[in-house]
Amino acid sequence: MSTTLPSLDPATGLAFATTAIASPDDIRRLMAAAREAHTAWALTSVVERRAVLRRFQHLLFSERQAMAELISRETGKPLAEALLTDIAVTLDLARYYTAEGPAFLRPERIRLGNIAFLGRRAYLHWEPLGVIGVIAPWNYPLLLPFGDVLPALLAGNAVLLKPSEFAARVALAGVDLLHRAGVPAALCQVVAGDGATGAALIEACPDKIFFTGSVRTGTRVAQQAAARLIPVNLELGGSDPFIVLADADLERAASGATWARFSNSGQTCVAAKRVIVEHGVHDQFIDLLVEKAGRLQLGPGLVPGSEVGPVIRASQVVELERQLADAVARGAKVRCGGRRRPELGETFFEPTVVTDVPPDSALWREEVFGPILPVMPARDAEDALRLANDSAFALSGSIWTGDRARGVTLARRLAGGVIQVNDATSHVGAVEIPHGGDKASGLGRTHGALGLREMVRSKVVVSDWLDRVRKPWWFGYATDSLPARDAFLQLTFGPTWWSRLRAMPRALRLLFNRRAV
Ligand code: NAD
Repeated sequence: MSTTLPSLDPATGLAFATTAIASPDDIRRLMAAAREAHTAWALTSVVERRAVLRRFQHLLFSERQAMAELISRETGKPLAEALLTDIAVTLDLARYYTAEGPAFLRPERIRLGNIAFLGRRAYLHWEPLGVIGVIAPWNYPLLLPFGDVLPALLAGNAVLLKPSEFAARVALAGVDLLHRAGVPAALCQVVAGDGATGAALIEACPDKIFFTGSVRTGTRVAQQAAARLIPVNLELGGSDPFIVLADADLERAASGATWARFSNSGQTCVAAKRVIVEHGVHDQFIDLLVEKAGRLQLGPGLVPGSEVGPVIRASQVVELERQLADAVARGAKVRCGGRRRPELGETFFEPTVVTDVPPDSALWREEVFGPILPVMPARDAEDALRLANDSAFALSGSIWTGDRARGVTLARRLAGGVIQVNDATSHVGAVEIPHGGDKASGLGRTHGALGLREMVRSKVVVSDWLDRVRKPWWFGYATDSLPARDAFLQLTFGPTWWSRLRAMPRALRLLFNRRAV
């Protein structure tokens, strides 16, 4: 069995680095060290912890060019995308959680309305969970793991990060920045390897698992975690609808669809994966899409001017061809692209627009993780909603219309965690917005206040400021009459103020009955 992992440049297939694979023994040892480091980290104040995150933000900003090159080399994406998605959003996550995180973690007073609890002070505290296991994919190799790692550390947790086997170097570089920013080494470590390493991480029993990846792996992770009663947060696949209504600005919508489908070479969870266009503007919209997709520059991400890079591995090209061939065999028409480009490399596939896509085809039913855009006409907005919601996935989606108010009303009826009107995919960059899906797209949320709350458990501390008074429910059933107990119910729920006042003396006698136990 190999003990090292090669890092390949997807554009060339050539290895540029190797990384040691963490064995199950390594993982157990790192888990024990992380538990110990967590004990001290949890005792630091959130103000100290956010200072570390702020230093990480400064370091990442000053080293952004080198990090962008590494991201581009390991994933194949254009440098502009590495800078504007992975790096810019990770910087913004650090900014946001250092600014707002302490307020989200502040204790909250719980007001008690029942008179029987008069004099109680109850406070809800947010406590770290312990060691968080983060299992990440490769498509946004900095943003996705660090969207979990940063709030986990701020909340006082330790982290073991299992990056994708295709993107270990970016994870190592990011964790190195954290260590240089002041995160104790044992508190946050990378465990590199493939699926077996991910399974070994779960076996080592972290206190919660944050998994981002495919539905198939996510299901296995959830099953393995359930057997150990480990809670999981699952950010899984999607097949986001992109609805274009007849009154939309078609030129803008076509630019939006082109970016939302073909950026990152179509390998984005929240990409526009099913375009649904109102009948009357369908043909005009297709012409615009074909024209815009045809103009995109295919090439290696590190070469200036490349707009669509390679897909992650040659096996993904084979998968795209299977999905496309299935649709074509059922009557779909390829309007542009549709071919691999071996002269550029084994991983290059042309931006492709497909129409007349049968709803039972793989292209419409499955998640398509690459640069293929299927388009379907709809009779009207109602029909578009029906087509959009008829999916196993519900990650996010968008509606394009000239009537924003109507768009917002329709958005409420579209399944998914975030629906945008007149924009698509970009919400993941707005770090205040909780991101996540429903149905097969996952469980739980990342980003925003909700994302931070996934990293903590609630603990309520209640203190009694009337601690010289007996409790109305304590023993003494033999000496107190039942009507005296009933007085407490009347005091709270009596229908008139007079009936409540009349119950007061009996209730007080109960509280001060010295013969009671
Ligand atoms: P993947 O499921 O193949 O792998 C994800 C991670 O799981 C990798 O680190 C992998 O090594 C690990 N893994 C594999 N088998 C495992 C096992 N048995 N136990 C534990 N870990 C295991 O996914 P991928 O190809 O890296 O990423 C693409 C998928 O991720 C797409 O479906 C995409 O939609 C999804 N994704 C979702 C989001 C989101 O926020 N919802 C974001 C990005 C990607």
